[in-house]
Amino acid sequence: MKALVFHKINDVSVDNVDDPKIEQPRDAIIRVTSTAICGSDLHILDGFVPQMRDMVLGHEFMGIVEEVGSGVTNLKKGDRVVVPFPVSCGTCFFCNNKWPSQCENSNPNGGPDGGLMTEKGGAAFGYTDLYGSYNGGQAEYVRVPYADFGPRIVPDGLTDEQVLFLSDIFPTGWAAADWGRIKGGETVAIFGAGPVGIMAAKSAWLMGAGRVINIDLQQYRLDKAKQSAKSETILWENEQQVVEIIRSMTEGRGADVCIDAVGMEADRSLLEKAKAVVNFEKGTPKVLEACLRAVRRGGIVSVVGVYGSPFDNFPIHRWFDKGVTLMGAQAPVHIYIDHLMKLVQEGKVVLDDIITHRLPLSEAAHAYDIFKNKEDNCVKVVLKP
Ligand SMILES: [Zn+2]
Ligand SMILES: [Zn+2]
Repeated sequence: MKALVFHKINDVSVDNVDDPKIEQPRDAIIRVTSTAICGSDLHILDGFVPQMRDMVLGHEFMGIVEEVGSGVTNLKKGDRVVVPFPVSCGTCFFCNNKWPSQCENSNPNGGPDGGLMTEKGGAAFGYTDLYGSYNGGQAEYVRVPYADFGPRIVPDGLTDEQVLFLSDIFPTGWAAADWGRIKGGETVAIFGAGPVGIMAAKSAWLMGAGRVINIDLQQYRLDKAKQSAKSETILWENEQQVVEIIRSMTEGRGADVCIDAVGMEADRSLLEKAKAVVNFEKGTPKVLEACLRAVRRGGIVSVVGVYGSPFDNFPIHRWFDKGVTLMGAQAPVHIYIDHLMKLVQEGKVVLDDIITHRLPLSEAAHAYDIFKNKEDNCVKVVLKP
């Protein structure tokens, strides 16, 4: 089959690789019909999340069930499914306690410690040997383990593009808003107007937020947030400017909830200087720091942007003085996806209006370039195998 293969830093190509096979009774093989490139795929491409051998990337995908193992009774050949990005067993302590993304069975390299290069949380598709060594879905076919727990059958009448983002970015944006404990009327400031930042904005409105603001370095992404999620927008010039604007919008106090939908990517230039993530321990978490300043006292900072390395200047004094609640993690997609599928089906939310590029899988390497370099006003790329 054809698949997008990561070889080494800044080197991906569409290659012929072996077709996946059923390996365990709870496996299914899915013929991929749509898959997307995610900002976190770029962390692998850039080497910030290291991967030392070839691997098929892609954790946002959907398709048609081709074959199921003997242990999968809820799916059959021909079913059309969307697949959550975390690989989760459905039976362990964490899967039973609303934390499928912390599954303790799916990742052979997982463990309790959450170290820099060791003992990560639950596995994810196409997300390096640190996260379970599973090939991903930017491919014609993909093996889905624990297929009786992850994949969701897509109701008739919904197109691929209407539901594809239930695999990651909508549940991830929803998690960010959910952790913000939005009850109604809150001002929610979302740092980042990429796909996840826009999905967080849509989620905040659905939960009853009073004002939703996206902040970004790129005007075209803010334009997309305004158009797709009806956000107010702030073009980031510097931290002080953004913090002052948010305070001026909130009687001087700051936002009730700040969402970090950027993560360590904001410190890319610093990371690039460090070359490898392993020795990188200096600097400040820029966006997280801005969130802690822009949030009101007693407010919540919710983080879905990825942080993969330690920082030695974390502003713990500000967090303590202001009484801020801080939450962040890989989103537990499985606990949200059914409710979110229903919102899509009922027309309460539209997800596909952020797609700017549609390309065949054969052009995936080129698609990575466009997305990485933010060329051609690229917000989200969907690949068709
Ligand atoms: Zn993703
Ligand atoms: Zn589990």
